Amino acid sequence: MSEIIEIYDDRLRAIVSPNASLQKLANGAVHSEGPVYFHEDDSVVWSDAHGNRLLRWSPTEGLSVLRDPSDYQSGNYRDLEGRLVACSSGLRAIIRREHNGEWKVLVDRYQGKRLNSPNDLVVKSDRTIWFTDPPYGITEPNQGYGGEQEQPGSYVYRFDPVTGEIYPVVTDMVRPNGLAFSPDENLLYVSDTAAFNIPGGPHDIRVYEIVGVARRRDRYLKNGRVFAVIDPGQPDGLRVDENGNVFTSSEDSVQIYAPDGTQLGKILVPETSTNLIFGGKEGNRLFITAGHSLYAINLNTRSVQQ
Ligand code: MG
Repeated sequence: MSEIIEIYDDRLRAIVSPNASLQKLANGAVHSEGPVYFHEDDSVVWSDAHGNRLLRWSPTEGLSVLRDPSDYQSGNYRDLEGRLVACSSGLRAIIRREHNGEWKVLVDRYQGKRLNSPNDLVVKSDRTIWFTDPPYGITEPNQGYGGEQEQPGSYVYRFDPVTGEIYPVVTDMVRPNGLAFSPDENLLYVSDTAAFNIPGGPHDIRVYEIVGVARRRDRYLKNGRVFAVIDPGQPDGLRVDENGNVFTSSEDSVQIYAPDGTQLGKILVPETSTNLIFGGKEGNRLFITAGHSLYAINLNTRSVQQ
């Protein structure tokens, strides 16, 4: 039996072998966050979020620095054209690396006021970008350039990079952070990291049903509820596999939940995990950013995205 897999429910055995091992691929970051996988060159790009750099690792080329400084880039994702889209806590914007290598600001305002500091994002199959906007780039000196908060709250936004339309879809969370869709994109999971610096604040994952169309934005999501309370620490980045199981970072591990909210088990990680992404040539390798490092573990499941 592996010492890193904790099994609470037998359904976990179909997801990860009890003997699976965790590999440390790279270290040297101040605070690893926001991994994204590129199958074109079998690489992982992630943020040294507090070190203000963007890093890259591949099995053949090892570790390199892609951007320094990175304007406190946080969450990263890959759009349907293979471009890197990212949250910039420093620029308080969603940015994109164009095919020619230039970085472009896609959106940095809602209703004329600056965003707080986008933290994490996902791209839906209709090409819209959904992102969280807690104020950490304003309130935490090692996560951004400070400034004044202009938005009245910390929301989750839906942004259409084609039309430029942006509007909030979640307004009832304290510090929305990581987010992911269910495989059929009928559900949106969002982590709340408020407990990080608000005593008594939430440390849970909420789930919302996606029902709306753009012209009914006030009804876009419904039936928001707590999916799971995460201990120890709080959840941050999260992902969903092809069967709807939810993988979330936490203080001691990557925790795995069935779609019904049952905790199936844990993958213990020696540093505090912040985020994760499915990748590898078979799509079944889970890359985990944690502490100063990047880790990976092979699973028996994969993501529907990539
Ligand atoms: Mg985050």
